Amino acid sequence: MSLILRSAAGTDVGMVRANNEDAVYAGRYLVAVADGVGGLPSGELASGIAIRALIGLDDAPPHGDPLDALGDAIDRANEEIHDAGRADEAHGGMGTTVTALLLTGDQLGLLHVGDSRCYLLRAGALSQLSRDDTFVQSLVDQGVLTVEEARQHPQRSLITQALFGRELRASCAIVASQPGDRFLLCSDGLSDVVEPEEIERELRSHPEPAECVAALVKLALRAGGPDNITVVVADLTEE
Ligand code: CA
Repeated sequence: MSLILRSAAGTDVGMVRANNEDAVYAGRYLVAVADGVGGLPSGELASGIAIRALIGLDDAPPHGDPLDALGDAIDRANEEIHDAGRADEAHGGMGTTVTALLLTGDQLGLLHVGDSRCYLLRAGALSQLSRDDTFVQSLVDQGVLTVEEARQHPQRSLITQALFGRELRASCAIVASQPGDRFLLCSDGLSDVVEPEEIERELRSHPEPAECVAALVKLALRAGGPDNITVVVADLTEE
């Protein structure tokens, strides 16, 4: 019996921004969210480069170490961002977060850079698998801020790692997963404005991934939608 991801994605520009700098992919073996930074039109370009570099991994049932495959794709994207910045000054300083899951056989790999997030819902309980690469998260780790203070902090969006076309330290991990696990990938347009308890409730109450995605996007919009909102829900399932 082979495993697949039953996944759905949604993205919305939100209520405030003029353009959507997030990019997303939801397939059978790969799901990914990228949140571009750098302003018009560079943020969109950077997140698009990252997602395009990853999409090929979903072409056929992938094999081998998922973290090698994800790492190679991200290195290529980072180089392309570097080259685009050199070719056109307007793109200097652009970058993107990436949070991606790749399933190869029964191994699920998570690669993460930036402040887009990966959560796991297992047995009805939500846990955050990714750790934000942000200034405020480093202060939380040092015991300077509480998680709640970090959520309200004016500099909460300041990321310390992303694909900026420079040297990069992505967080990689094999996720000890089992059929029935539900994964959520999202940009900060969701996690900044919707409380984890509300996210957990929605993930529990919509069996269909697409309905769950729509409900989560709606919650972020109802909370004011100050940023682009991108959501992937993926259920690990036996085919
Ligand atoms: Ca964002």
